[in-house]
Amino acid sequence: MVNLIAELPGESNDIVIIGSHYDTKLFKEFKFVGANDAGSSTGALMELARVLAVKKPNKLTYRFVFFDGEEAFCKEWDDCHNPNPADPKTPLPDNTYGSRHYVAQLVQKNEAPRVKAMILMDMMGFKNLRLGRADLGTSWLQDIVWQTGKQLGYKEFVDTTEGVGDDDHSPFLKAGIDSLDIIQLSTYGAYDSEYWHTKEDTLDKVSAKSLKIVGDTIIASLPKIEERIQSRSR
Ligand SMILES: [Zn+2]
Repeated sequence: MVNLIAELPGESNDIVIIGSHYDTKLFKEFKFVGANDAGSSTGALMELARVLAVKKPNKLTYRFVFFDGEEAFCKEWDDCHNPNPADPKTPLPDNTYGSRHYVAQLVQKNEAPRVKAMILMDMMGFKNLRLGRADLGTSWLQDIVWQTGKQLGYKEFVDTTEGVGDDDHSPFLKAGIDSLDIIQLSTYGAYDSEYWHTKEDTLDKVSAKSLKIVGDTIIASLPKIEERIQSRSR
């Protein structure tokens, strides 16, 4: 597997990571496109990186991380745990390979303390966009992003809880890094997760407008996130 990492240096060494997984799920039974999971967030991340590079200088250093291996090899997320010799009580998951590896490297290189926030996008391109707050995430980051989205007039940001659980932001949270996940899982389709991990996850379900809504909201949230991070370190 390969994580792709691009860095945009800023005035400060403090890092904000914006991430997405770019692998998609492998099904033997049918051809899986993965337009929303994870084509949408991969495309949005490329465009965010382009926009922020033009907009420089940024106060903080930005890292754009495209994670590999988010999807499980086995059919379901939790079908195939592996034994963990270091901690038998918590088996190694069969998912989030790239993000777990990336965070382990951050810790090993003693870079983790420099990472002040992590913004994850995953499945955020559905044409009927509706973004609840993921159940796992740092509330001050969620507050800023959701308030900013609403201020921009995007009613797609709602205050319901989006039950997702672990995603690529989980290893960051476990390492003490404030993180959030922008994801639409439960309402991806006409009923519960209808298109998720099915042959229906195709380009016609995704709209450029949804990518723009999330992208605009993140761009507008960053100065507030930078302000919060810098006021804490003063
Ligand atoms: Zn998936």
